[in-house]
Amino acid sequence: MSERTDLVVRDVSVLDCTGREPSGRHDVVVHEGRIAAIEVAGHAKHARLTSVDGAGCTLLPGLTDAHVHFAIIGPHGDHGDEPLINHVLKVASFISSALDEGFTTVRDAGGLEPAWAKAVESGLVRGPRILPSGSYLSQTGGHGDHRLAHEAVHGHGASIPGLIARAEVVDGADAVRRAAREQLRRGATQIKIFASGGVVSPTDPFDSVQFSRDEIAAAVEVAQGWHTYVLAHCHTSEAIDVAVAAGVRSIEHGSLLDTETAARMAEHGVFMVPTLQTVVMIRDDPDRFGLTAEKAAAIRSVADRCFESIRVADAAGVAIGSGSDVVGPWQGRRGEEIVLKAPILGAHRAIVSATRTNAELFNLAHRIGTVEVGKDADLILLRGEPLDDVELFADPDNVRLVLQRGTVMKDADGRVTPQA
Ligand SMILES: [Zn+2]
Repeated sequence: MSERTDLVVRDVSVLDCTGREPSGRHDVVVHEGRIAAIEVAGHAKHARLTSVDGAGCTLLPGLTDAHVHFAIIGPHGDHGDEPLINHVLKVASFISSALDEGFTTVRDAGGLEPAWAKAVESGLVRGPRILPSGSYLSQTGGHGDHRLAHEAVHGHGASIPGLIARAEVVDGADAVRRAAREQLRRGATQIKIFASGGVVSPTDPFDSVQFSRDEIAAAVEVAQGWHTYVLAHCHTSEAIDVAVAAGVRSIEHGSLLDTETAARMAEHGVFMVPTLQTVVMIRDDPDRFGLTAEKAAAIRSVADRCFESIRVADAAGVAIGSGSDVVGPWQGRRGEEIVLKAPILGAHRAIVSATRTNAELFNLAHRIGTVEVGKDADLILLRGEPLDDVELFADPDNVRLVLQRGTVMKDADGRVTPQA
């Protein structure tokens, strides 16, 4: 890790992610960790500053991912069945890798102890800014209840505060309220709940509606009191309707979204965070997730609908964020989510979903998500022109430089020349 320094990224094409088309070449000046100026390239000013060569690259805001699971290191959506030291080392490597992939802010959608976010913030672990959700909340028999049907107790045991945030299984508004407060106390920046069935969980039907409206409303009330919000895992419109009525702000997956529900989401300003990468991964290779033939067939039928649901949401005017939801050893190519979304939204809007729109969802649009004067200098240099070739995002090697609040975190080509 290098020291933060004032610098200028020279002669670069800027895709600022405000929605504007890039035009011409610019010099982008970073002062005290923020973007201080964006000027037409070639002026002799700033000669004394550390210089970053932008040739052959596009400058973008650091990418964001609204749905990571850094601590889900096992292939079956669990925390792994290994010595704790392995768990810790793997989580640290996944966090560090995300930064190399060009992600400078991520929202962990559950499973990561909030202490990790603080460890990154304090410089103990190299990684992006993390917005942790702590333990996700599940009802008994819900998507977060990992017990097999014949088990009374799950073999992996309970959360370890400060280290492991397993699912909290809670029933009734009071228990949900207490669990939500507990997550916030530990440092969660928002609350994650499971409001419908899922694919990899052992006992719940995929189309089940989970948590009652009053249980979800209890979590929402707690979150709003803390000036934050609830994100809900929901696959079906039936489940989304309950979550939206209860005040949830962020619908995760939204795989089977219909027009009426999409209109309700738009009306309430609810975001949708589709997670195509993990759906495609499970569809194409169900064996490695240990899925039964029945579950594999279910995911195949859902996969196509996931793409259609994004079209439905977009047509209704729902703000569409971006999340990869990759778990286990397959973390490391989160930019593929942008590539998968591009045929539906177009390359430019797919990129904006993973920058500006996510920033709005995180309530951080005043600091991140676009290349504009005054914003944090969370910036990346991507090889080539992503609007012409969105596939560039699929390979993290195309991310040649990463700046995090003005600090050089990755410089693959030696583009940074310190001031003389
Ligand atoms: Zn997830």
